[in-house]
Amino acid sequence: MDVTPPLMLHALVVFIFILICIIVYLVYSFVSREETIARMKAQQDKLLSSFNELDEQAKLIVRTDLELHKTREEMDKRLNGLNALQRTSRQMSQALNESEIFQKISPSLFGDLGFSRILIACINDNNLLKVRLNIGYKDSRADAILKEFESEETLKGLTAALSLNNCPTKTRERIIQIFESDHFILAPVTAQTGAIGFVFAGYGFNAPAMTQGDEELITILAGQIGQSIENARLFEKVFLSSQHLELKVAERTKQLATALQKVNEISRKKSEFISAVSHELRTPLTSIKGYASILIAGKIGDVPAAVKERLSKINTHSDNLVSLINNLLDIARIESNRQEMKFALYKIKSMVDNVADLLAPQMTAKGIKLQQRLCTEVENIYVDASQVERVFINLLGNAIKFTPAQGTVTIGVSPALDEGFAVLSVSDTGIGIPAAEIQKLFNEFFRVDNEINQNVKGTGLGLVLAKNIVAAHHGKIWVESTVGTGTIFYFTLPASQKAFEERINLEKNYAA
Ligand code: ADP
Repeated sequence: MDVTPPLMLHALVVFIFILICIIVYLVYSFVSREETIARMKAQQDKLLSSFNELDEQAKLIVRTDLELHKTREEMDKRLNGLNALQRTSRQMSQALNESEIFQKISPSLFGDLGFSRILIACINDNNLLKVRLNIGYKDSRADAILKEFESEETLKGLTAALSLNNCPTKTRERIIQIFESDHFILAPVTAQTGAIGFVFAGYGFNAPAMTQGDEELITILAGQIGQSIENARLFEKVFLSSQHLELKVAERTKQLATALQKVNEISRKKSEFISAVSHELRTPLTSIKGYASILIAGKIGDVPAAVKERLSKINTHSDNLVSLINNLLDIARIESNRQEMKFALYKIKSMVDNVADLLAPQMTAKGIKLQQRLCTEVENIYVDASQVERVFINLLGNAIKFTPAQGTVTIGVSPALDEGFAVLSVSDTGIGIPAAEIQKLFNEFFRVDNEINQNVKGTGLGLVLAKNIVAAHHGKIWVESTVGTGTIFYFTLPASQKAFEERINLEKNYAA
């Protein structure tokens, strides 16, 4: 059979074509796989480097976190330390003596700050350096440290805090040797007089390094100790001088009390003498006055007019003398508490009206107007009415006497109450009293040298009597005056029995 050659050829061509296609496909797929592998490798490298970067960053974060943690711990420690220090400072500043200051420093303060060795030493009154606080050293070792410290010239003159960081090598070695601690802060305790001690704070050998915060805290503590010692010393000084002063005051008070007793005794004797003399004078005076009256009345025979005139002068002078003697007797009686006082509640208004009636003729004669300025808040006074009327009569009599015609005299009761005491006053528009004389006004027999006194008789006892009567009521009397304008006398009297008794108790307590 014959096969047609073109068909064979065709089949061969198709076969070859298919083969070529397969080869091409195989070549192509091989080439593209290599490319993919290369691409994947590149990506893998990229991923690796990213991973490395991330790893670095993670490490950095961990490192930063650790540092932050450390800083936070340091901050916490410092904050705790500061709080503890603030508490201690507050307590130290309240201490009144030196040993109390150190009792206020709690060892836990240093525990909070993390120190294991603390030695605080200060010089005492005898100028000797003494251990005030010791943590972590045996007593014998602490004493030995002080001895070495005293003999070490550089340390004796310590003026600023020393630490491992700022210490010259030689000094550092000495400190490490003396205090057996290679991480330390040594701060001076200073007062006005200079360094008076030191605060040492440290760890044992091979301890963690000291921070700047630790240094600051110990320096603050040392400063606070110095300040508190200074305060305590000042307090002691003030306390001692106040004690000394108190003793002096007590001594002086005793002397004054003795002097007052003597004065009272002399005054009592004077009163007794005046009483005795006045009594002795009053009897013959009464006789003189009696005889003069008999003679004037012509009971013994006719008396010529000229003799009569002299006799009536004797009578007037005798009257003046009797009134002077009566005043003296009254003063002496009140001063020596022999005057019986009849205290009761009286209406001020009716008392003032009585006195005004009594002196109305004198006022009318001079054309003097009387004003009453009584207040409604204080209507009554708890007094011996007859005695207080004498005060009013004396003051009002003087006001009329020393006020020119047509003047005004005013009786007032001030609404102001001096611890239950009414403030009464008698004022005038008269000649006034020179400032230099005011001090002497309440002295016996004192009279201002003026025209009125030269012409009008007076005893110089009226104000003394008024003062004594007011004093017997436990009140006060004083005067304000301006020459040419007028005078005002004030005096205080109890407004109630309660106020009167309270004042007596107060004076008793004061005297005791
Ligand atoms: P006397 O009135 O008898 O002189 P007093 O003791 O009453 O004695 O007064 C003493 C002196 O005080 C008076 O002499 C007078 O100089 C002065 N004096 C008292 N009251 C007044 C007054 N209201 N105005 C001016 N001087 C006065």
